[in-house]
Amino acid sequence: MDESKFGAEDSRGYWAPDKRISYGPAFAWPPQPRALLKWFFGFPGYLFPWNVPYAIAAVLIWLYLTPPLETFETFSLSWVGIILARNYFLAVCVYGAWHLWLYIWRKQDTQFKYNRNWPSTDATAFTFNNQTYDNMFWTLASGVPIWTAYEVLLLWSYANGYATMINPTDNPVGFIALFFFVPFVHEVGFYFAHRSLHWPPLYRIAHKLHHRNVNPGPWSGLSMHPIEHLIYFASILIFFIVPSHPIHMINLASRLGVAPAQGHTGFDRVVMGEETAMDTSYYAHYLHHRYFEVNYADGMVPLDKWFGSFHDGSPEADEAMKARRLRRGV
Ligand SMILES: [Zn+2]
Ligand SMILES: [Zn+2]
Repeated sequence: MDESKFGAEDSRGYWAPDKRISYGPAFAWPPQPRALLKWFFGFPGYLFPWNVPYAIAAVLIWLYLTPPLETFETFSLSWVGIILARNYFLAVCVYGAWHLWLYIWRKQDTQFKYNRNWPSTDATAFTFNNQTYDNMFWTLASGVPIWTAYEVLLLWSYANGYATMINPTDNPVGFIALFFFVPFVHEVGFYFAHRSLHWPPLYRIAHKLHHRNVNPGPWSGLSMHPIEHLIYFASILIFFIVPSHPIHMINLASRLGVAPAQGHTGFDRVVMGEETAMDTSYYAHYLHHRYFEVNYADGMVPLDKWFGSFHDGSPEADEAMKARRLRRGV
């Protein structure tokens, strides 16, 4: 696979794609119906590779990896343990698979890797002086338990009527529509959570830990301080307000739980064969890790454009970022 077809190393040796970061046409004005259709059904696009598989995964998790609803009526450590074990299983499978493929087996070596260096194994900035161990520790010791705690709260609330439930047979349209609502909540919730974490006091006590990863790998995704986990997963609480089925809550919770893996691979593309490489499209978040103050969100809602923090990867965007810094006297 020839990576020079898609980009080149910049003057400092970082690989950068030629293609500029874009949000797709979902919020373009005036509307672009043709582009919208192409984006919606295309690959990569709205439905694939992520939104449909995450929705299907939520249905499967509900059917096969979650006890029946009435179990949650009374609080018990045994079912909490089942949800916790199931989330550990999901996390280890997803983060582990990306890490194994790209960082242990190094299937494509540094092809399409933004930063050519491998994770640090002797940097004092990291817990245990090792980036991967640090990232796994924060993910497994704090991330998965806090993700589980939110899920447990919601499952108990559905079972006891504190969160309003809808039923797919009584309200099929609402049931389907909520699958379109989940990615939107995920993105917008992430933007505001993340933006607040860059407020200097919160940054210093919490988010700084995630930003140790200037050169992220898959396990960096959910490597956060417990305060950040509490804020990051809080968008699950929206289901106290919006009537839904537990499947939608699981859809949001499991996305929040495992999607950071694909957002932090550190690679622009995953090579699938001699001629194909899948665009993982997370250059926006990679640039966030490199420059800190750009691209708080990525995906389909152009929040960074609206709030003036967008960096599309171009030299012009770099100049604009430097000018903003100068104005602030940084
Ligand atoms: Zn990140
Ligand atoms: Zn950040």
